Amino acid sequence: MNSQRLSKRLEKVASFVPTGAIVADIGSDHAYLPCYLINKKIAKKAIAGEVVKGPFETAVRQVREEGLMHKISVRLADGLDVIDESDKVDTITIAGMGGPLIVSILQKKPSVLKNVTRLILQPNIHAKVIREWAIQNNWALLDEVILEEDEKIYEILVLQRGEMSLTEEEKLLGKYLLKEKSEVFIKKWQRELENWQRVLTSLDQAETSQEIELKRSELLHLIGLVKEVIGNENS
Ligand code: SAM
Repeated sequence: MNSQRLSKRLEKVASFVPTGAIVADIGSDHAYLPCYLINKKIAKKAIAGEVVKGPFETAVRQVREEGLMHKISVRLADGLDVIDESDKVDTITIAGMGGPLIVSILQKKPSVLKNVTRLILQPNIHAKVIREWAIQNNWALLDEVILEEDEKIYEILVLQRGEMSLTEEEKLLGKYLLKEKSEVFIKKWQRELENWQRVLTSLDQAETSQEIELKRSELLHLIGLVKEVIGNENS
């Protein structure tokens, strides 16, 4: 992967950035995404934000090598702290982290989101917490994608301002992904079912306690819910 040729995952993230956007990419270890967005003339300006010095320096080098310092500002700070109101950022991308970390980044400086009209979030795991955060913070799903690359399955959630309500199934599995039920989607949830079954078996072998009973009933609930959705496909 490089800034000319992104991974399939980041290319899909890029495809949701509106033309002319001012983008902040949070957790931008080599700044490939911002460089791609500027080189393809999708974004007008970009900020590459990193909290760790090593990846920040890699991002600075990349942007310098591509001669894009006038369009991309590489900044070292935690999450949305890299954004100032005067930057007029309207689109934020956060990719390659867990759902809970993405939510904690969004929650830490909500004032920055005032001028933002699109969030493109790619959680590696636990997308559900992002959908829950979106409902509580007046963001609505515009689209969702599930894709497989190098044997890993990724979800991408695209949010715009608006009210949304989701069922328990939609929160867990994704409103649009659930409708589409793609092959990758079935594969992801079959894998999850297998994991949950394994945990359940190990819980059956453990000494019973209130905590274990609670975990068991949570897992049984999730297994039932997912089996109902993927139904016949789960064979
Ligand atoms: N976004 C790139 C991608 O999807 O390929 C890089 C993903 S990499 C696994 C996650 C990056 O996010 C790391 O470079 C890490 O240092 C950075 N990161 C983690 N927490 C962060 C935070 N609170 N603020 C900014 N960057 C963060």
